[in-house]
Amino acid sequence: MDYKKVSKDKFGDFIAMLGKQKKLYAPQKEGESLKFMPVAAGSQPVLAFPNTTVPPKSVLFPQTETLYRFEQGNTDISLPGEAEEGVLLGVRPCDARAMAIVDSLFSWDVDDPYYLERREKTTLLGLSCLEPGTNCFCSSMGGGPASTEGLDMLLTDLGEAFLLQTLTEKGEKINLSVQELLEEAAEEDVKFAEKLSREAAARITRGINADGIPEKLPEIWESPLWKDFSESCLGCGICTFLCPTCHCFDIQDEMEGFEGRRCRMWDSCMFSEYTLHASGHNPRPSRRERTRNRVNHKYSYFVKNFGKIACVGCGRCINLCPVNIDILDILSQVVKEAI
Ligand code: SF4
Ligand code: SF4
Repeated sequence: MDYKKVSKDKFGDFIAMLGKQKKLYAPQKEGESLKFMPVAAGSQPVLAFPNTTVPPKSVLFPQTETLYRFEQGNTDISLPGEAEEGVLLGVRPCDARAMAIVDSLFSWDVDDPYYLERREKTTLLGLSCLEPGTNCFCSSMGGGPASTEGLDMLLTDLGEAFLLQTLTEKGEKINLSVQELLEEAAEEDVKFAEKLSREAAARITRGINADGIPEKLPEIWESPLWKDFSESCLGCGICTFLCPTCHCFDIQDEMEGFEGRRCRMWDSCMFSEYTLHASGHNPRPSRRERTRNRVNHKYSYFVKNFGKIACVGCGRCINLCPVNIDILDILSQVVKEAI
């Protein structure tokens, strides 16, 4: 494993050099939200945060994107140009794991060229969590504050410098491209980073033993818990829009005069229209069925299809639900009720 260091007084140059080579995205404020946005020359991203409001999936799987353009009466279509080479700086380990999970979906029965091209051309530079949020439960979902799954490089804040742990070939290329700013890390630096990560992991107070949950969920299909937990749900969809592993989308055509575009946009299984048939029948007619589906999809169906739970314990759905519906409370109830 290759470890280097970049001192904090050179970190501005490090960011500037990355921005000159590739399109650089990092967490920045937009109103009250923190999200991954392109870093303008000379500006500094926000790197002290528990996690971004909007996960970095918004770069690889944008909220709205044009799939192609067309003209009425013409069968030719025009595809978007090639994706740019990009770097995401400051990705939390849970969100990187989420991308590794979502990769399975976008390369499943049919490859999704839009997502996969951006994924291939994007380098993920992670940032260890030293101050986990109050609702983080990554350790229960197979991750941790310094998990490296899905990342090309992991940065850890040592105080005076960042430790850089190179993990892949893409990470190595970044390493080489900024080598004049780097110095060799000492064994004590690596040990110090490991100590910080252990301490951070010890500060995670929430969690659940997920063993057996995928098998337990079908047993409690008719449980009253789904009605109980969904009664206060507003159906706003925040828990799914801002979940780093949620990936549902809708495809629509938009016309302006004789020209149009086919676009895809995030959708949510928490919306009633999501499963509404043209006949008017809706197989998930109430929030009870939609809440049950959301939980089953993440912790049971995804496991059947891909062998992994589609939750990384980032805590966003707990933090951001306007009526405080807590997925860990639901899972605890699942565990209690299962036969
Ligand atoms: S279900 Fe909630 S805790 Fe799990 S990854 Fe999605 S937003 Fe994060
Ligand atoms: S964020 Fe809360 S209120 Fe909104 S759809 Fe999800 S569970 Fe319901």
